[in-house]
Amino acid sequence: MTIVLILLIAVVMVASASATLVVTRRRHPGIELEPPPAPPAPPTTPTPPPPIEQAPEAPPEAEITPEQVAELEAALQEPEVAPAPEPPAPAPEAPPVRPRFRDRLGKARSLFAGYVGSVRSRGKINEETWEDIEEALIRADVGVDTTTALLDDLRTKVRTDHITEPEALLDALKADLIDRLGAQDGQRELRYDDTVTPNVWLFVGVNGVGKTTTIGKLGLRAKAEGHEVLMAAADTFRAAAADQLELWAKRVGADLVRGAEGGDPGAVVFDAKERAAARHTDLILADTAGRLHTKVNLMEELKKVRRVAERPPGQVTEVLLVIDATTGQNGLVQAKEFAAAVGVTGIVLTKLDGTAKGGIAVAIQTELGLPIKLVGLGEAPEDLVDFDEHEFVDALFG
Ligand code: GDP
Repeated sequence: MTIVLILLIAVVMVASASATLVVTRRRHPGIELEPPPAPPAPPTTPTPPPPIEQAPEAPPEAEITPEQVAELEAALQEPEVAPAPEPPAPAPEAPPVRPRFRDRLGKARSLFAGYVGSVRSRGKINEETWEDIEEALIRADVGVDTTTALLDDLRTKVRTDHITEPEALLDALKADLIDRLGAQDGQRELRYDDTVTPNVWLFVGVNGVGKTTTIGKLGLRAKAEGHEVLMAAADTFRAAAADQLELWAKRVGADLVRGAEGGDPGAVVFDAKERAAARHTDLILADTAGRLHTKVNLMEELKKVRRVAERPPGQVTEVLLVIDATTGQNGLVQAKEFAAAVGVTGIVLTKLDGTAKGGIAVAIQTELGLPIKLVGLGEAPEDLVDFDEHEFVDALFG
């Protein structure tokens, strides 16, 4: 009996000790029990798998509300991939802006600026004032004859208008320049006769002045104005010139007629006219050879081209002489030669953006009486602009 009692007491004590341990673990999960002793090494002979024990009953789980379930499900679902943002639409190409003379004639203006500054600084008109004005005009390539004529005019004005202030003298000079550069009404416009198909515009000038580029730029403008354009590569001396024109024709969406290298340029113009008439193309822009004007045979060749171009169908309504402003007075010599040979109707003065010699414009208009119709203020198509004497003179004097 005593033994049974002792055993009972022992059992009760063991049971209460293990219960205390379990409670302690639950209340203080950080407390680690001694790791259980390592399991015995596996037996070398296969032993039957132990019977699958019934999984101990899971502790009661906290109640999950249907809302939480829904939330969980939503979280587990494939994250919604936000549609890739549309690539930004390409910014609409800004319409080309016509450049201002003032912005492009920087070189010519800085030449004038020094002289104008010293004329102003004197506070009166004296011999040095006249020397300054003369030097400025000569250096800007206005030319000796035109400069002399301008100074004579100014001296007369100073006397008759009782001009004593340098500023008033400069104003008188500007007015005189504008006057000389002015053209009669309508003389400046490119001549196009809508009763004629096709109109032919011939482009003449020495190599490198910008003929082909001018044809390309004008072609774009003519297309935009609704003309059907054909480009004729009548410079058969240089295959590269025809290639360059072909590139422009593609860009413009113009028809192109070109001949064999070294072939007859008159034949190219003839073919161009036939094709233009057949296709109701209203405007032919014809490039011509530009070997040095001193070669007499070039002038003869150009005369022949013009004669062919004059024959019906259609009519030559412009013969535009392209002059590179950077060549200054040399351009005037060229202008005289071409005008005598092919009857130039207007001047295109290119590369005004790259020179201080813009004064050549005054010499051309004064000495030859030929209107400057277009000027090149850069290489982009929109840089070929109608000449405006007011803007031009304002740009020179800042
Ligand atoms: P072409 O031999 O007379 O046909 O001359 P091009 O048309 O081939 O032109 C010769 C070079 O002058 C080219 O590089 C043109 O881009 C350039 N050019 C033409 N006009 C202008 C202009 O107004 N300003 C500038 N800066 N360059 C120009």
